[in-house]
Amino acid sequence: MAKLNPNYRKLSAGYLFPEIARRVREYSAEHPDQTIYRLGIGNTTEPLTPTILQGLHDRVTALGERGTYTGYGDEQGEAELRDALVAYYAQRGVTLDPGEMFVSDGAKADAANIQNLFAQGSVMAIQNPAYPVYVDSNVVAGRTGEYDAAAGAYAGLRLLEGSPDNGWFAAPPGPEQDEQLDVVYLCSPNNPTGAVATREQLQAWVDYARQHRAVIIFDAAYAEFIADPELPRSIYEIEGARECAIELTSFSKFSGFTGVRLGWAVVPYALRTEDSEQGELNRMWNRRQSTFFNGASNIAQSGGVAALSEAGQRESRALVAYYMENARIIRSALRELGLDVTGGDNAPYLWVRTPTGPDGQPLGSWDFFDQLLREAQVVVTPGAGFGSAGEGYVRFSAFGHRENIEAAVQSIRGKLRLPER
Ligand SMILES: *Cc1c(COP(=O)(O)O)cnc(C)c1O
Repeated sequence: MAKLNPNYRKLSAGYLFPEIARRVREYSAEHPDQTIYRLGIGNTTEPLTPTILQGLHDRVTALGERGTYTGYGDEQGEAELRDALVAYYAQRGVTLDPGEMFVSDGAKADAANIQNLFAQGSVMAIQNPAYPVYVDSNVVAGRTGEYDAAAGAYAGLRLLEGSPDNGWFAAPPGPEQDEQLDVVYLCSPNNPTGAVATREQLQAWVDYARQHRAVIIFDAAYAEFIADPELPRSIYEIEGARECAIELTSFSKFSGFTGVRLGWAVVPYALRTEDSEQGELNRMWNRRQSTFFNGASNIAQSGGVAALSEAGQRESRALVAYYMENARIIRSALRELGLDVTGGDNAPYLWVRTPTGPDGQPLGSWDFFDQLLREAQVVVTPGAGFGSAGEGYVRFSAFGHRENIEAAVQSIRGKLRLPER
């Protein structure tokens, strides 16, 4: 008799984005003539740039000819792309080896799969709020107990609470806390808060991890949105990180590859756990990828090589600049209305505190979501969907066509009824 994996039943309240879609559908059905402005899902909207298109086209052409056709490639990624990734890190003074690069079909799957490297009893620490895959993959892998709605947490998971006081980036446990975390997920620039860890904040985590032989899973999917040269874009810019950190990153947000699909993980040779030798985790991830994954699309990989060329990077930076101008437009409009906005200066997300409701209390995330939808027809993402610490906030995404961003902002300015200041 087959039995299902009971851990799926622990997943709380379904997935966030289907619930948003349901509410929008319901509203649209009641108001079929209203235009809806979507500032919710973090999905790119602007077309691929010429250099990248050329790379993709050339590979398609090559696949159509007997002399240049290729089938399965290396599971770790094509050598040309791994070399280009090494050169990309070298631009920032970070020296890595092609054997430490694992090309994938995106950072989300890597983020879900990476926990598989660690012992079942490991203490997993995850930022609150966070991109949902870190929590959900650990739930499905059976590393947690049930969801405790009152606590807003799964039994057995350690949450690193974000708040305005710590700039939405919790510090590691101090020496007086003497707490052992084994695997720590950090995302910077952060989805959903738009917060970026400073060099000092990351150094504190790297120091903690080295001292406690913990491993940091560093999600750098938005690294290229960092404009401030003082802020680290890779955890390997931090002294000692190679011994204790895996970096996950992606072409999705930098080069508009959300639909093309391409990312990479860095698993350094120097990385170790308490019970492993140097190089063992790198070999384990290689074994895992070789067994469970047949490599990223070769067409996508040629697109990635093109994206990392000098022209490709220049064009990708222009794409990022376009979205960051959107962020600036949204931020200045929301601030003019008196809303409390953070993020959006080194990340494509703005994190907005909900205004006061009729009863004088701050609105809940979903209440402000509903108000924005009903009054201004603007769809955002409720902060509570990213974890209990996101309650009282919503996320605005800066991905969108400029004219839609401007129309959304105008609708908010004209129609949203906020309490008197
Ligand atoms: C968008 C995003 C990713 C990228 O996922 P892909 O699978 O590479 O498209 C990874 N992490 C975070 C936090 C993201 O928001």
